[in-house]
Amino acid sequence: MEINTTQRQWLTDFNLDHPLVIAGPCSAETEEQVVKIAQQLKDTDTSIMRAGIWKPRTRPGNFEGVGAIGLDWLKTAKAETGLKLATEVANKTHVEMSLKADIDVLWIGARSTVSPFIVQEIADALKGTDKTVLVKNPVNPDLALWLGAVERLYDAGIKNLGVIHRGFSTYEKTKYRNNPEWQIAIDLQSEYPDLPIILDPSHIAGRRDIIFDICQTGLDLNFDGIMVETHFDPDNAWSDAKQQITPKALDQMTVDLRMRKEFTEATAFQNKLQTLRTKIDVVDHQLIDLLGKRMKIADEIGDLKKKNNVAILQTKRWNSILDTMIAAGAENNLSKEFITKFLKAIHEESIGHQHKIISE
Ligand code: PEP
Ligand code: MN
Repeated sequence: MEINTTQRQWLTDFNLDHPLVIAGPCSAETEEQVVKIAQQLKDTDTSIMRAGIWKPRTRPGNFEGVGAIGLDWLKTAKAETGLKLATEVANKTHVEMSLKADIDVLWIGARSTVSPFIVQEIADALKGTDKTVLVKNPVNPDLALWLGAVERLYDAGIKNLGVIHRGFSTYEKTKYRNNPEWQIAIDLQSEYPDLPIILDPSHIAGRRDIIFDICQTGLDLNFDGIMVETHFDPDNAWSDAKQQITPKALDQMTVDLRMRKEFTEATAFQNKLQTLRTKIDVVDHQLIDLLGKRMKIADEIGDLKKKNNVAILQTKRWNSILDTMIAAGAENNLSKEFITKFLKAIHEESIGHQHKIISE
């Protein structure tokens, strides 16, 4: 696929000296709500107002959106503020109605990106238009599925493209509503460096207090913009109340964030350095998580050895791990000395853990 700078044109057209800001409520609720939020956003860095009209809810019984009438409210908001508009489309009818209402940006939600049938239906309905289409990552951590959706749109002739990173579902509860899995976004950027990538910190966080930090990480990883759920009365929002922030808080956030527009050679250097450091931080976190997982397994082995009265140190097994890992290390340009020291340190920690378990 020829994803290149031409796909960035829509973003370049904004001619901003800061990353793109898309903001607005999770859902359009009433005409007053939509217009009031638009008016408050007008005085911020926001260029595009978002609002869900058709809401995909994981389980039925929650507010499922106001439907097509919300498009009229959005049009009013646009007429009064000049903000461009964005909404989620999940089928052919949504696309047709949004085109009629002259919505500027359509996004495909995480629950739709997982379905090639749905994505193809949307792509076919968009053929021949010049709309900007943003593809949210699928709910599951699958880069190919995400890229596949972008490729379907590209093949349908949609030239103004971009992606939105909104994190990935995990069965285990973490501090995030949707785990950021930054490495997937980094891999996507290396595959298609010109494809605009927007961060949705709201659906990653699921809560207000970590939105700032998530945004900073995204900006340090060279994201082109942010899409933030914003409401004048977040606690009483009809959907995703916990993660929405006020337009005022958004405004303050854009002041406090380290923005990464390159101005001088010195800032360009600083920006590149910061990007690389953030990438290292992402990998370091993965390493620590993995080491933690490894230790949990070592603990289980300790338990098993205790029950069966087996010695902790199994020299043959240790030597075979060492040999295999030295070979794997060589393939990754890591010296035998380093791998040996590294594994010994891990092994010592494991033995320490197992000693504790066995002597308990
Ligand atoms: C949304 O943006 O409100 C939404 C439903 O997002 P997602 O598809 O990322 O869950
Ligand atoms: Mn939402």
